[in-house]
Amino acid sequence: MVVANQKGGVGKTTTTVNLAASLALHGARVLVIDLDPQGNASTALGVDHHAEVPSIYDVLVESKPLSEIVQPVPDVEGLFCAPATIDLAGAEIELVSLVARESRLQRAIQAYEQPLDYILIDCPPSLGLLTVNALVAGAEVLIPIQCEYYALEGLGQLLRNVDLVRGHLNPLLHVSTILLTMYDGRTRLASQVADEVRNHFGDEVLRTSIPRSVRISEAPSYGQTVLTYDPGSSGALSYFEAAREIALRGVGVRYDVQHAHVGGQNEQQNLTEGMQ
Ligand code: ATP
Ligand code: MG
Repeated sequence: MVVANQKGGVGKTTTTVNLAASLALHGARVLVIDLDPQGNASTALGVDHHAEVPSIYDVLVESKPLSEIVQPVPDVEGLFCAPATIDLAGAEIELVSLVARESRLQRAIQAYEQPLDYILIDCPPSLGLLTVNALVAGAEVLIPIQCEYYALEGLGQLLRNVDLVRGHLNPLLHVSTILLTMYDGRTRLASQVADEVRNHFGDEVLRTSIPRSVRISEAPSYGQTVLTYDPGSSGALSYFEAAREIALRGVGVRYDVQHAHVGGQNEQQNLTEGMQ
């Protein structure tokens, strides 16, 4: 599941780590792939990601096996993280000249043999090659939408990119899930945005929305998800509920990576050109 929205600060990382922890607490085996040079997901999961740590950069650029960089997340059984370090900031440019530059993450995931129920990929706030790698590797896209003015602006570009990737490199890909984040039920604006998103996307929007919660924003500074930091808080309960919705409606379809389609060089060329 690719957690993407090129708008910054809408709750991608918060959603990735808290949904992942919720799914793991439900008993699933979950891998979080941190694909953002900021490394926020690694921080929030309490996973070491200083400059020398083997990271997703080594996987994408140096073709290191994913199994050599994945770390268990402290305190949550069944939860694992492929960390990002600051090296990843250069990957966007370094990838350009590499063979199969759009499908390097997909190949790494295909070669990863550990049993997993879910893989969640936290994307950076851009639509560059890192996000394209996530879209090529994934089966479905989860878009967190912050309940603020301008929430839908720019989404068209993301949706067009999802269509391009589906057309050229990954026929499985679809937007399966929209999650409303930082919802403040006291403001009319939040409910107007929520209505607009529900009218636009319909069934893809989870019934559960995530409230604005101080506990959610505090948890990363302790290297924890809100699920372990304050399990009884409204933020923890809402992420737990959102995860339950995802699991129950079968959104997290097991992704049979062996049968995933890998596009040829020409297709990849066209794809990148189409996006420029
Ligand atoms: P970026 O685009 O920089 O990667 P992002 O989309 O990953 O950002 P987050 O880092 O998850 O967004 O969230 C942005 C900020 O909002 C963070 O400080 C986070 O702690 C805070 N935040 C996220 N969700 C909530 C919430 N439900 N309640 C309160 N604060 C929140
Ligand atoms: Mg983030």
